[in-house]
Amino acid sequence: MFDLTLAQARAALRSKQISARELTAAYLDAIEALNPTLNAYITVTADRALTQADAADAALARGEHGPLTGIPLAIKDLFCTEGVRTTAGSNILSNFIPPYESTVSANLLRDGAVFLGKANLDEFAMGSSNMTSAYGAVTNPWSQPGGNARLVPGGSSGGSASAVAARMALGATATDTGGSIRQPASFCGVAGIKPTYGRCSRWGVVAFASSLDQAGPIARTVEDCAILLGSMAGHDPKDSTSADIGVPDFAAACARGVRGLRIGVPREYRMDGTPPEIEAMWQRGLGWLRSEGAEIVDVSLPHTKYGLATYYIVAPAEASSNLARYDGVRFGLRENGADLTELYEATRATGFGAEVKRRIMIGTYVLSAGYYDAYYLKAQKVRALILRDFTRAFHDVDALVTPSTPSAAFAQGEKMDDPIKMYLNDVFTVPANMAGVPGMSVPAALDNAGLPLGLQVIGRPFDEETVFAVSAALERAAGFTALPPMRAGAAA
Ligand code: GLN
Repeated sequence: MFDLTLAQARAALRSKQISARELTAAYLDAIEALNPTLNAYITVTADRALTQADAADAALARGEHGPLTGIPLAIKDLFCTEGVRTTAGSNILSNFIPPYESTVSANLLRDGAVFLGKANLDEFAMGSSNMTSAYGAVTNPWSQPGGNARLVPGGSSGGSASAVAARMALGATATDTGGSIRQPASFCGVAGIKPTYGRCSRWGVVAFASSLDQAGPIARTVEDCAILLGSMAGHDPKDSTSADIGVPDFAAACARGVRGLRIGVPREYRMDGTPPEIEAMWQRGLGWLRSEGAEIVDVSLPHTKYGLATYYIVAPAEASSNLARYDGVRFGLRENGADLTELYEATRATGFGAEVKRRIMIGTYVLSAGYYDAYYLKAQKVRALILRDFTRAFHDVDALVTPSTPSAAFAQGEKMDDPIKMYLNDVFTVPANMAGVPGMSVPAALDNAGLPLGLQVIGRPFDEETVFAVSAALERAAGFTALPPMRAGAAA
């Protein structure tokens, strides 16, 4: 059962080789066995999942099916799910049961998906390690052979990536504000795409930084991601930033090949201190594309070096504004106070964790009168230059290929004493968010320690099809079939 990809499981369901109940039950068993160790799910909705699976079987028996009928998925606990607690990884939403469904998750339900539960994440999606969740750290199913250190799955979509890598879901929803789909996908040896800003509706997704947040899928293969994105995407009148353009057949694009494409290699992504194995993987990936008929071209994205600095102004600024709504009055946690101000203060002091408080303080500082021009306005101007770099590069090339992350997964607890070190994880992923362009991570190799490394493909706005074509070519050449050691026997 677990050796089937999402595309294969879909075919097996339609031909009645397996039932949706069997498939869902197998995944629920895997969750029961592994979640106590990995903590990838905050909430498991087993009964609901089986009811949805039975409905899927009934539909299949009638010869009716949607694109995802009977496919068991994990939903990042940042997507509001009607009647199912949605925490955003925060104590302040520990009792929040949304009365509505996010557009993205509603689209998946419309297409027949089964929801296994809500995946763990960094608190309000702020982090790169899943260590900031109020519901405990998530563990990466990968470990160094022989080593006993527990590794982080990356973040913030660490629960989504860990669940997919450990075969506790066939696919998952995730969100990416600065790298939170691509970095955990890379750390866990799975695929993930952050589509173009505006491709998926943000309605019903708990907001972190609204001009950067974008939903996307994490799954085992590039094709599986394409199938999921096809369901998640689409115009939504309830999100004014969702784009009113058609959703192409992403899965078909995976088979296009790369012959005749021009692939750019941004020279600024060659950074001091990048491990030689990552550099070697990058060169190998470019060689594969060249041998498939693509032309490899050097390009320059000169403002890359300002990406992180501007991201860590813009993202906290927007976060401080978005998080103002958690005041203990309308929903979520409420602590008592002698007056309204004390109630606010007590609620927010108890409800938010340290990283979220740090971001709120940075955000209110850079937005404050007197500093606004020096920090926030300046960052917005640099953001425009980052976008211009990409626009210029895409005059000359069809896609860019870079490493996804500057390192493989690290141990839990590492980098916790130094926020800047943690922020450096996103050095290769953040520019695509600043520019709003699509980016995908594909598992490309194991490093010398036996841990997965990913390659990133960045494309033109709303040209996810080329991103899928290039990513699928890399995937075919890489032939990455390794399983995390703890799941090595899970093929049956
Ligand atoms: N790691 C980045 C941050 O902490 C990005 C997180 C994300 O993409 N949600 O902000």
